[in-house]
Amino acid sequence: MIYGVLGALFGREHRLAVSSPQEARFGMAAFFAKNDVSEQDKFGTVEALTQYARLRVPKLVAKAAGNKLGQCLVILSKMAFEDYARSAASTCQCSECKGKGLIYGMKEVEKHPGIIRADGVVIIEPWIETERVGELCQKCNGKGVLSNRCRCKGRGLVLDEEQTALQGVPVHKICPRCAGRGYSKVPSSVAYAAIKAYVPDLNERTWRRNWKPFYQTLVEKCHSEEKRAEIAFNAVTK
Ligand SMILES: [Zn+2]
Ligand SMILES: [Zn+2]
Repeated sequence: MIYGVLGALFGREHRLAVSSPQEARFGMAAFFAKNDVSEQDKFGTVEALTQYARLRVPKLVAKAAGNKLGQCLVILSKMAFEDYARSAASTCQCSECKGKGLIYGMKEVEKHPGIIRADGVVIIEPWIETERVGELCQKCNGKGVLSNRCRCKGRGLVLDEEQTALQGVPVHKICPRCAGRGYSKVPSSVAYAAIKAYVPDLNERTWRRNWKPFYQTLVEKCHSEEKRAEIAFNAVTK
């Protein structure tokens, strides 16, 4: 039904290929759910982003990557999409329980305690069986999903204790932990580490100067495509 909404938008006209507003709304809902997009949508989006990256790759990056450029662009695109897909409301599947909410393991379960006489003589042996038992996942508390929300509860603002004390009224400041985004970003150091596996000679300084800005343009591209989709969506449903 929803067919590569974001992917379909990349590099095309400001038009959604849908037959009805309902369908568009459905597609857009999936689109804005970001992390909840189907695997197929995700795949299409990353592919489109990789194509975009191929056109925009800076010469110095291409030179440094050499024959590993293809792999590097796929990694950067995947991570850029992941970064974009996180938002204050978005969640990701719990890695601990793979979204099941339960952790399964073999456990000895006492079916019957048996009968033991007061003097210790066993009349009936306890009945114990080894069974596959699911226990609540501690990491996600059984929900199967984890939130990317910052500790500021996704508001992006925290109480400025100093100013609040000074002025006697609650004063807020931009949350220093998430810089007001409300959610945690994929640190670019993660992307650096992944690229370094393919380009071992890449040092931190070169990464920051040549690669990181390029990586950030890919994240930006996702955000600008989202805005474009929003405009297209509004035009369709007007
Ligand atoms: Zn879990
Ligand atoms: Zn925050």
